[in-house]
Amino acid sequence: MTDDRIPLAALEHGTPFADRHVGPAPAELARMLDVIGVGSLEELGRSAVPDAIREDDLQLALPEPATEAAALAELRELARRCHPHTEMIGLGYYGTTTPPVILRNVLENPAWYTAYTPYQPEISQGRLEALLNFQTMVADLAGMQVANASMLDEATAAAEGMTLVRRAGKSKSPRFLVDADTFPQTVAVIQTRAEPLGIEVVVADLSEGLPEGEFFGALLSYPGASGAVRDHEAIIAEAHERGAKVVVAADLLALTLLRAPGEIGADVVVGSTQRFGVPMGFGGPHAGFMAVAKGLERQLPGRLVGVSVDADGNKAYRLALQTREQHIRREKATSNICTAQVLLAVVASMYAVYHGPAGLRAIATRAHRMAAVLAEQLRRGGVEVLHREFFDTIVAKVPGRADEVVAAARRGGINLRRVDADHVGVSCDETTTRAHLATVWQAFGVDGLDVDELDAQTADALPAALRRTSEYLTHPVFHTHHSETSLLRYLRQLSDKDIALDRSMIPLGSCTMKLNATAEMEPITWPEFGSLHPFAPAQDAEGLLSLVADLETWLAEVTGYDAVSLQPNAGSQGEFAGLLAIRAYHRSRGETGRDVCLIPASAHGTNAASAVMAGMRVIVVRCDDQGNIELDHLRELVAEHADDLAAIMITYPSTHGVYEDTVREVCGLVHDAGGQVYVDGANLNALIGLARMGKFGSDVSHLNLHKTFCIPHGGGGPGVGPIGVREHLAPFLPNHPLQPAAGPATGVGPISAAPWGSASILPISWAYVRMMGADGLRRATLTAVAAANYVARRLNNYFPVLYTGKGGFVAHECILDLRQISKTSGITVDDVAKRLADYGIHAPTMSFPVAGTLMVEPTESENLAELDRFCEAMIAIRAEIDKVVAGQWPADDNPLVGAPHTAACLAQDWDHAYSREEAAYPLGTGAPKVWPPVRRIDGARGDRNLVCSCPPLDAYQS
Ligand SMILES: *Cc1c(COP(=O)(O)O)cnc(C)c1O
Repeated sequence: MTDDRIPLAALEHGTPFADRHVGPAPAELARMLDVIGVGSLEELGRSAVPDAIREDDLQLALPEPATEAAALAELRELARRCHPHTEMIGLGYYGTTTPPVILRNVLENPAWYTAYTPYQPEISQGRLEALLNFQTMVADLAGMQVANASMLDEATAAAEGMTLVRRAGKSKSPRFLVDADTFPQTVAVIQTRAEPLGIEVVVADLSEGLPEGEFFGALLSYPGASGAVRDHEAIIAEAHERGAKVVVAADLLALTLLRAPGEIGADVVVGSTQRFGVPMGFGGPHAGFMAVAKGLERQLPGRLVGVSVDADGNKAYRLALQTREQHIRREKATSNICTAQVLLAVVASMYAVYHGPAGLRAIATRAHRMAAVLAEQLRRGGVEVLHREFFDTIVAKVPGRADEVVAAARRGGINLRRVDADHVGVSCDETTTRAHLATVWQAFGVDGLDVDELDAQTADALPAALRRTSEYLTHPVFHTHHSETSLLRYLRQLSDKDIALDRSMIPLGSCTMKLNATAEMEPITWPEFGSLHPFAPAQDAEGLLSLVADLETWLAEVTGYDAVSLQPNAGSQGEFAGLLAIRAYHRSRGETGRDVCLIPASAHGTNAASAVMAGMRVIVVRCDDQGNIELDHLRELVAEHADDLAAIMITYPSTHGVYEDTVREVCGLVHDAGGQVYVDGANLNALIGLARMGKFGSDVSHLNLHKTFCIPHGGGGPGVGPIGVREHLAPFLPNHPLQPAAGPATGVGPISAAPWGSASILPISWAYVRMMGADGLRRATLTAVAAANYVARRLNNYFPVLYTGKGGFVAHECILDLRQISKTSGITVDDVAKRLADYGIHAPTMSFPVAGTLMVEPTESENLAELDRFCEAMIAIRAEIDKVVAGQWPADDNPLVGAPHTAACLAQDWDHAYSREEAAYPLGTGAPKVWPPVRRIDGARGDRNLVCSCPPLDAYQS
């Protein structure tokens, strides 16, 4: 035995996960700290973070870090404690089969899930095409002019439909009618949204005709929650005559068989695409959708992909009509929706691409036949079935026996819907089998018959007048990729056009594109989590609810708050929930007049949009030329609004990427005037382990788990935007009408359709915290701050850093000011961003929060080589700009204004002032190369001539 042996105990646990998550190795970090001019990460923390908020001895009470293997074993155990039944509950969530080729190559593929929102269209053509397919699919099936990509869920889409028709219509009435046969969670979310806006929601049985009096809009379901398929044409016509617009909540699968809502007069169509191959996941995430009639497209909330052309005249996609979005329009925005559900929209669109119209029709018909046969045999057995005309869902009347029937079905492994003591609902779907029908019949005490025999004797239950005759999905993309090989290659061909985190760092300020570790991602496609219906009995989800409880506790610990709600399914929704809590708190104390929300000029656009949704008046607080809140102006405003101040909404660290050292003072001023403090915590990446909002004066915050806590960006969603609150606001957290355990009885109502929002992706953040532990999280924060300061120091001489805080440090991001450079050279931030694509690097955030600047957030996950690759590209670009300034290259013919360069453009005749090599290989041919698939895209042209679905078939035939 020798003395230099290594003890077993030291070898047992392998490499700590934090060493995998954090990019820079110790020697690299030392070099970074050297450039920054500090001796250690701890010194950096003490120097950069203001004393007023820094908690030097903070030891977060989190479990000791687990290895990847150990965390996965714990997750397996949590999954084992989930017991998904065959879910026939319906209410907008249905069994579906994710085609394995889509599961592996989209949902489990980092080329798709780590991509960013396609704001840089030239390197996002793949996901933009997939989203255009999504829009085409929705618009076609709904029979509408334009569909967006996408909404957060069906219930919020319906609520957005309500506010859209209010904006777009002429009626001054505050009344909005909701048909009683609507999903209860949709009704409840609409009520949550309506109340602060002074909209009066009238729930009534509209099949009996429209009520007396004026109303600005109505919501009809097609099919209804009871499964009934009604002909809404006459009622829509009457609503139109009475000056109102109509929103129809529809099921896309049903629309393959039913007349399109657009053909019966709908103004807006909303719904969910969950059953197009997206697992139920205990409530989410799934892509909601919204489609509108001609003339309403500019009112549409959310993101819209449009067709335009690039500099060489080739077809190219990009986001259209962006000026409607909240980041531009702020308090005048049409909606606060920002992050949506892109990854799930891609899955749903590919499901339609793979099955094609005939395949979808077959799936729908099969679900319908199952329901028809199910109803027929119940009737024969003496059970009353409420409706004669339905698609996939029936409601049976069993006086006093509903509990008994539901319990019997559960014993057979099936969850049914208990409507009330006398009624049971049953929904069929793609996964329903003959054996399921037999179990259901048995639960009702009806003897089963051979399904095929019954089938032969049972007519369809679809109303003849509502049979679909119009075509849909006629575009070639829905007819080409029906073999797995073809779809596999299509998916690869698309993702190869894009830059995601699997190809380059994505240094996006205010977005935190950090590692989405594989171990964190693995559990989200486990069937134990994926197959749970959100309204299944809570005991079915025991393991997942235990994970929810852990995560709530850990997030409360990390933020210093007393209670957390995980329900909001994006940051924007968290903002709305937090502001509603503030509003309800003031009201509970009789201070109903407090409705002013102060928001600094630099705030993220969602802040102002959310405040308006919460019924508040937005007043802007000025920022000084250092980018900090102007305290004198704040004092003035607070004094002026002492009686009606509801809240201040600030971002910390500020959107300028600095730790403002006046934050405690700001909180104090507002509290003294009776207001509440909302700290936008989307950028918690600069705070975890160093300071806690709940302890430095804030009352409520949202966090973005899709930024700081490793949920991947998905190309623009999904997200999770939980809120943390101090004790006095805890009674006003969101709750849910179908799940009392999801929030306090005194809560503000549901913010999302599902009780725990996008529950199935919470294992990602759980695994991150579980594997990092308190020290790992703190190290991640400090490394992120180091990386930002390293980039700031390296680039400051080439592109001046606009704002710094205490000691000349930035927080976790830095703003590079190009305005002077642009003035002297004519080269814009756009040119630089597009040129980075030629270097194979994703551009930083452009012109937010300051026009003419780039905001860089490198995160802790990038190693020194990648940080340097970015810095060297930026320095090389600066040298290119200098050549333009020096006249070596003409202002209108240089690699910057010509960027990005496609392989095809190099193959053409070349008569430019710069060489092909300079265009395509600025750092030499040895550097890794990404070929952008299109040249610079003309966005304005696409907005003037709006095309938001796949061009029709004849465009290809001509
Ligand atoms: C990203 C972000 C938001 C919006 O979050 P979404 O999930 O996109 O709705 C709000 N505030 C700040 C500061 C952000 O960075």
